[in-house]
Formats: sequence, structure tokens, C-alpha cells
Amino acid sequence: MIVDSHCHLDRLDFDKIGKDLPEILTDARAKQVEHFLCVSVTLAQFPAMLEKILPFDDVSASCGVHPLNQDDALDPALLRELAQHPKVVAIGETGLDYYYSKDTHQVQRDSFAQHIDIANELSKPLIIHTRDARQDTLDIMRAHNAQQCGGVLHCFTENWEMAKQAIDMGFYISISGIVTFKNAVELQDVVKRLPLDRLLIETDSPYLAPVPHRGKTNQPAYVQDVAYFIADLKGISYKELACATTDNFYRLFGLAQRGNAS
Ligand SMILES: [Zn+2]
Ligand SMILES: [Zn+2]
Repeated sequence: MIVDSHCHLDRLDFDKIGKDLPEILTDARAKQVEHFLCVSVTLAQFPAMLEKILPFDDVSASCGVHPLNQDDALDPALLRELAQHPKVVAIGETGLDYYYSKDTHQVQRDSFAQHIDIANELSKPLIIHTRDARQDTLDIMRAHNAQQCGGVLHCFTENWEMAKQAIDMGFYISISGIVTFKNAVELQDVVKRLPLDRLLIETDSPYLAPVPHRGKTNQPAYVQDVAYFIADLKGISYKELACATTDNFYRLFGLAQRGNAS
């Protein structure tokens, strides 16, 4: 069995896929996906997201504000309150994205630091988004003691040096369908070097569908394609990759309910 450790189930294009959420989850379960972590990107949309996934025992939630969604300053009290819901197993996604935003760096840094403090306070691990901001990401993680709550660098596309430093702080690295892209040679090298006990897999759906689904709207069932690709890359069996990444997921997100379907 495998896990989609990062998806945005409330943002799927249901019309384009031609299915509703229960059907999409059923399709994924048929591809051995036993758990889904549905990731929050704004506090305003969090209650509606939570309501959508509440009926499903095999779907967990995170709570946080995406670095590119900083329209208003983060309300730490509200984050703290919403994140205490038992369905919330992680804080995020938070982090820094200097690639798509040139003028919100300070706001992003402040928000990121506050997310880390709250994650430590609530003892819930962090989901970190980082792009083109390697040094600042690591500096803020260290300054705010992120190794205490731990977490994952999700949809990782940075270099080995950064992965290594995050791993040394006890963090996990999650790989999305980007690794299957033909031009992702550097990332493929990083994935080959990642220790198996620090690796997670994800779709980040509805974005970034893996090969051979490129151009389609992404969905959790496709995490199986990511798993096959990475197993191949690392020269191990699909089963070994599946077991390791699933164990890693429940070790990191201790509040996620492990399915008994397997
Ligand atoms: Zn992200
Ligand atoms: Zn995401």
C-alpha cells in the first residue's frame, strides 16, 4: 500500500476529471493508495476543505497558509485554533517561494517563522514548501528550532546539499511527479541519494501530473506512477519502496490513522 502525502483534494477539477471526490478516492484506493493528506493553503478556505474530507477516515488534513497566499498577514491565533482539530495532523503548507514572488519575501519569512513556532507549540510536524530560497529556509528552520516538531520538505526540487541539511535536522523529503519529467535529471540524482527511511511520495494534485499523465489534471491515483518511477530509479522493488514510504508517513504524521485495509 502507498500514501499520497500531499494533495489538494478541495482544488481538484471535478468537471474536467468527470468524477466527484468519493469516486476519485475510490480510483486511488484501487491503485493501492491507503491514505491521503489533504493540504491547506489558506485559513479562509480551511473550514470548507475540512468539511469536504471529514467523512473519510483515510483522509487527514493540514492547516496553514501557503507562502504565495499572503494577501493578509497571518493570524496566528486563528491558525492555532483551527490547527487543533483532531483531523489536523500537520502544520502547513508554509515556507518560502522566491521563484514566483519577488516582493513578499519578508511577509513569507514572518509567516514561516510563526508556523514553526505554532507547530512546536502543538507538537504537529511541518509541511514546508521551498523554492529558490534555500539558505533562508534552512536559516529560519534553525532559528526557530524546527527540528523539535520535525516535518517534510514537500515537492522537493532543490539540490542534494539542501536535502542533506534538512535530513540532518530530522526532516523528511517528499518527491512529486516532477521526478518523472525528462528534464529532471538533477532531481533524479538527488532522489537516488536520498535514504529510503527519509523519503515520502506525493502527487501535489491537482498540479504537476506525472508521466505518463502529463497535461491531464493530476489526481491521487497517480501517486502510484511516482512510486514505480522512484523504485526503478533507486533499483529496488515497488513493494520495498511502497512499504518504506508508507512507514515513513505514519512515523512522521503520528496522528494520521493507519488503515487496516492492507
Ligand atoms: Zn507546495
Ligand atoms: Zn501543495
